[in-house]
Amino acid sequence: MFDKILIANRGEIACRVIRTAKRLGIKTVAVYSDADADALHVREADEAVYIGESPSASSYLVIDRIVEAARKTGAQAVHPGYGFLSEKKVFAEALAAAGIAFIGPRPHAIGAMGDKIESKKLARAAGVSTVPGYLGSLTSDDEAVKVAEEIGFPVMLKASAGGGGKGMRIARSAKEVREGLRATMNEAKSSFADDRVFIEKYIEQPRHIEIQVLADQFGNTLYLGERECSIQRRHQKVIEEAPSPFLTPQTRKAMGEQAVALAKAVDYCSAGTVEFIVDKDQNFYFLEMNTRLQVEHPVTELVTGLDLVEWMLRIAAGEKLTLTQDDIKLTGWAIESRLYAEDPSRGFLPSIGRLSKFRPPVGEGVRVDTGVYEGAEISMFYDPMIAKLITYGATRAEATERMSLALDGFEVRGVGHNVEFLNALMHLPRFASGDLTTNLIAEEFPEGYVAPSPKGEALNRLVALAAARHMTSVVRDAGMSGRTAGKLYTPPKEWTVVAGEGHHKVAAKLVDGGVDITDGQGNIRKVRGELGQHLDRFDGFVDGVAMVVQIDRRGTTSRLVQGGCAIQAWVMAPRAAELLSLMPVKAPPDTSKMLLSPMPGLLVSLAAVEGQTIKAGEPLAVVEAMKMENVLRAERDVTIGKILAKPGSSLAVDQVIMEFA
Ligand code: ADP
Repeated sequence: MFDKILIANRGEIACRVIRTAKRLGIKTVAVYSDADADALHVREADEAVYIGESPSASSYLVIDRIVEAARKTGAQAVHPGYGFLSEKKVFAEALAAAGIAFIGPRPHAIGAMGDKIESKKLARAAGVSTVPGYLGSLTSDDEAVKVAEEIGFPVMLKASAGGGGKGMRIARSAKEVREGLRATMNEAKSSFADDRVFIEKYIEQPRHIEIQVLADQFGNTLYLGERECSIQRRHQKVIEEAPSPFLTPQTRKAMGEQAVALAKAVDYCSAGTVEFIVDKDQNFYFLEMNTRLQVEHPVTELVTGLDLVEWMLRIAAGEKLTLTQDDIKLTGWAIESRLYAEDPSRGFLPSIGRLSKFRPPVGEGVRVDTGVYEGAEISMFYDPMIAKLITYGATRAEATERMSLALDGFEVRGVGHNVEFLNALMHLPRFASGDLTTNLIAEEFPEGYVAPSPKGEALNRLVALAAARHMTSVVRDAGMSGRTAGKLYTPPKEWTVVAGEGHHKVAAKLVDGGVDITDGQGNIRKVRGELGQHLDRFDGFVDGVAMVVQIDRRGTTSRLVQGGCAIQAWVMAPRAAELLSLMPVKAPPDTSKMLLSPMPGLLVSLAAVEGQTIKAGEPLAVVEAMKMENVLRAERDVTIGKILAKPGSSLAVDQVIMEFA
């Protein structure tokens, strides 16, 4: 085994690798850029080497500096994590040339699987079932339309060099093929410097199910079951689980055996993942092979009991697998949620800033993999993932329940985040029934996500909690003013909780260990637990129901969040609540007659001129943001009034691009 390794990565995955290395008594070297000088992976490693400026092209992607850092520190091997250089054949080659082991597969396997067209050809030859399609690169619209018509609509246009969900488009008609080919080629060129685009059949109601493989350097190859990653947003995974609630043991075995056949065909060693798309009849088709550790590997670790990083280290050090396929047993259920710094209510735009609060949940069956800490900064330079929250249970229902509670308790402040949205996913009846497809998010949240108000008793409990907190703090304040003569104040017992449009009249009574709240119908709800106004989280009981609730104070109101639902509560004297309706409300400006930029970006082109009439669904403008070309379309029939932005100019979020007449 190695004495010292270098981790050519950052964030949670660098910390994840360090954790196993420490357990095995291996010393670790971190690398870091300017933005990461204070990062968690730097703090946790035994040594750290500075490798350059913040943009990854000047640091984490500079092969020479990383090889040099390994040489200088005497690291015998390098773990690449995921992303960055993990799937760059030249990196593995450079390390080999320097006599340093690469903790991953051999260079030729990385190369063979790095290209979607080439890997599909290879998979076909290895007897792996692939998506029907045309494996040449397309250049002309006419050719693309001809191929698409042969395959049959709908089809998918894909960049051969694509990855991370970028460079992919569904086309349901010849017109969409024409429109899509240009855009996909442009995107492929700007993101991957390679404009080859191919076409394959779009599998309807698809599920994404992938097989984890593990192989040593001696050709022993195993499959460690599957992960279902169907819950995606724009082809990027959001929630993953193991096992899949969909596969029969027969399909699992067939997929596992094909994955092993493919791994053997490229002489694979180390951990790798063979991704499949699965249709509603359990037909499965190879998508691609990722020749590295995946973000979602923890769910496999929890159901197999294996440490994948440990095995990657052992295999790279030349050890043989001591397990056989029969030893691989899947026990229980694991679910992973990816916490991102992004704002779901604004079309999931990335959010950057300082984590003024970061308190992950703890509990039975809860694992948190993260690379940040309270006070750390989420910068614009890297992937905006804050943490991965993984829960384990004996059954899927138990793992789901634990996930939901853990999300309720996850305190993140200072940056926008998707914690509530993840919890809303956990509460979908469709999630519980396991009826997943990659379209689930688009279908369930067509307008995006804004936390809805809870209903029924769930609402009543939050109202009671808001009142109880208010009462507690008023009584505490009264106690203080009581010390000053002439400032004696007896808090009222009656309050009105204004939550949205609803006015809830309650009476509050302080009792031992909490507050009793009586509603207008005379129902008493016992709120028990710490109720201090300084707490951002309530962890206690309302009416005997265990509740973990996030509480965000905003001026005189509080936002209470639980189970993916939220209320904005304002507790006041009943008379004040009555007068509230007389208060003027500031009306937001009417933006329905304008086209606003939904994100900061670059205005690539305009598809309309002043005075032109545009039909609903037709393009108005193209905005490039985060390497994606976004076509902004008319939501209804409109006539263009004034155009206020020029192509080539940069746009702020909500900047007016044009007005409608
Ligand atoms: P990337 O390398 O960018 O991750 P993949 O080929 O792995 O691209 O595809 C990512 C996702 O896109 C899949 O998980 C699936 O949701 C969707 N997808 C890809 N190909 C197809 C297809 N032929 N039919 C339906 N969905 C597809």
